[in-house]
Amino acid sequence: MAIDLSKFIFIDNHAHSLLKDYLLLDAIAFRQCLSESRSMSQLETHLPASVFYADLLRQIGRLLPVGCESDLLDYRSRQPAGSYINTLWDDASVGALIIDDGFKPAEMLEPERLAALCARRIYRAGRIEAVLESCIDRASSFDGLIALFREEILGPAAGTAHAAAGKERLIRTVCLKTIAAYRGGLELALVSPGEARHDFDRTKARFAAGSRRITRCPLYHYLLLQAFEWAAESGLPVQVHCGIGDDDADLRQSNPLCFRSVLEGGRFAGTQFVFLHCYPYVKEAAYLASLYPNVYLDLSLSVSLASPRAADMVLDALAQSPATKILAGTDGHSIPETHWYGAFAWRRALGSALANLSSSGFMDRRQAEDAAARILHENARALYRLDDLV
Ligand SMILES: [Zn+2]
Repeated sequence: MAIDLSKFIFIDNHAHSLLKDYLLLDAIAFRQCLSESRSMSQLETHLPASVFYADLLRQIGRLLPVGCESDLLDYRSRQPAGSYINTLWDDASVGALIIDDGFKPAEMLEPERLAALCARRIYRAGRIEAVLESCIDRASSFDGLIALFREEILGPAAGTAHAAAGKERLIRTVCLKTIAAYRGGLELALVSPGEARHDFDRTKARFAAGSRRITRCPLYHYLLLQAFEWAAESGLPVQVHCGIGDDDADLRQSNPLCFRSVLEGGRFAGTQFVFLHCYPYVKEAAYLASLYPNVYLDLSLSVSLASPRAADMVLDALAQSPATKILAGTDGHSIPETHWYGAFAWRRALGSALANLSSSGFMDRRQAEDAAARILHENARALYRLDDLV
């Protein structure tokens, strides 16, 4: 039994903005947006032979008059900026996006500019590590750092809409996000205030020596856990990268099961955590979502870069996680094709998984459509409190 998902909008709960020159890319720069690798030979020789990449080109050829990669590069370079985004994102029924603007901020369009170009609602995820690094740089004492970090991570945007002067659109912060998985792993130490205070001078000295990248240390973990508590007080969910997602990720340390110290004990029971990406730990994330009421998962990036297995991932997620705990996302960044393909791959995978469950007798059509609506947009609306989204 086919499940028609075309009537549901897609809320992208994890994405990034577009490169300022996103229409003017050569083949290598375009491919770079679809690969975790920094290797030139990987991009030149091997990426085009990936099944997902060939699939992206084939699928986009059904929407645009392009038959191959060079056709697409030529076609997109001649398109007006906004209309090209809208052609793609309308095709995938992308209704709204939550943008992490801490990824390559100097190279990317500001969220306000993106919102104006794409003519749809944009929300913001505040990246904890980017704010923390900036605060450590400026703070002169441990107590000063705590106060500054709290003010900046919650900011004037937390819970209330704000607009930069002269901008047409409102960009509201609706969640925080941590990349701890890539900064020493998800096994967080429950650090005491004394240990963190003791680490302040050491961390400042490292920053003064030129290393402005916060990685596993007592001060980092203490403030990360503080941010989790503040997020709960402010009603902001916390997105947690796990599994694939960065070329310097040590996958052994980005298994969501490593997050157990945070999930157990009750201290963070009021904080809603969303595991992003998850692959290859989809079953583990789904298990945690079935166990803890404050755990959710999305399959962003995974459904794109491993799209031939995307329907199996959705089945693995639905095998244990309630449908109320699964969110849709793309991790699209840099070029609008990544968001488009992510949403396309998500909808295709979900349709296939639900058809499988229906034909196997696990659910009827009404239950399948109900699960689809929840996953594609209702869960995100509720979790991130997108009440202003029509
Ligand atoms: Zn991301």
